Amino acid sequence: MTFVTRFAPSPTGLLHLGHAYSALLAHDMARHRNGKFLLRLEDIDQQRCHQKWEECIFEDLTWLGIKWDEPVRRQSRNLKSYQDALQDLWKRSLLYPCRCSRRDILSALSAPHTSNASFGPDGPVYPGTCRPNDDNQLGLIPDDNVALRLNVAKSATGKEFNFVECRHNTDGVKREIPVLGGDLIANVGDFVVSRRGYLGSYHLCVVLDDAAQRITDVIRGQDLFSATKIHVLLQYLFDLPTPVYHHHTLITDKDGKRLAKRDDARAISLYREAGASPDDIRELVGLTD
Ligand code: GLU
Repeated sequence: MTFVTRFAPSPTGLLHLGHAYSALLAHDMARHRNGKFLLRLEDIDQQRCHQKWEECIFEDLTWLGIKWDEPVRRQSRNLKSYQDALQDLWKRSLLYPCRCSRRDILSALSAPHTSNASFGPDGPVYPGTCRPNDDNQLGLIPDDNVALRLNVAKSATGKEFNFVECRHNTDGVKREIPVLGGDLIANVGDFVVSRRGYLGSYHLCVVLDDAAQRITDVIRGQDLFSATKIHVLLQYLFDLPTPVYHHHTLITDKDGKRLAKRDDARAISLYREAGASPDDIRELVGLTD
């Protein structure tokens, strides 16, 4: 099977050294294996995304010597595929509307008699405030102004999944990682699959997009390790293949903190303007051989 990987930034700011590392690693692997490297713009949230950041992404990647092998996929052009998938889960009674704000969730979790909240990939595990306690069909999918959560207990009780993980920068060995339904229920909880405004969440879109682009190997930071469990559950629900997940270490600042888009000081374009070459960037991120 041809190796197919991707780099999937959101056009919400300048790419920094952490992005350069992830994109170069994925691109190098694709070239090494005679595979394909694809580019996807995760631009579903049109309020935060901007054309000027898209142009910067193209410019930075091109300057780094990165070429993508198919036309760029944009989430904003594929909204129907996310909505169809939401309809499908809704019809199977696996979703419910949720009107809780972040503050509501925190106050429910800090109420007396509440057991200690665990933290999942998206923050504190949802306490279930809006979860319906009967199995009645909820009628038509609400069109707007509410989030939709997946009922994880209904979706994953008694299930066991696996995914293959490869850790870069350590031993590079592939391992089977078990994902147990009980662990998802306790430590992930009912996550959001659609945000207000009927927009697919990151988890929903990334799974559908990886399948649509026939990605065989996802290469991304190890901060997404626990989110991968969510993705494996969604792949099971939609009957989609699970790619191999390669997790790499994160490029950090001098205090050991992960870089964020607001860390403009590490922006690729600033290094370029200061006279650095693409090879200098490779050296800075430790990709020299
Ligand atoms: N847009 C996501 C990010 O930049 C992509 C994560 C992924 O590779 O799945 O963090």
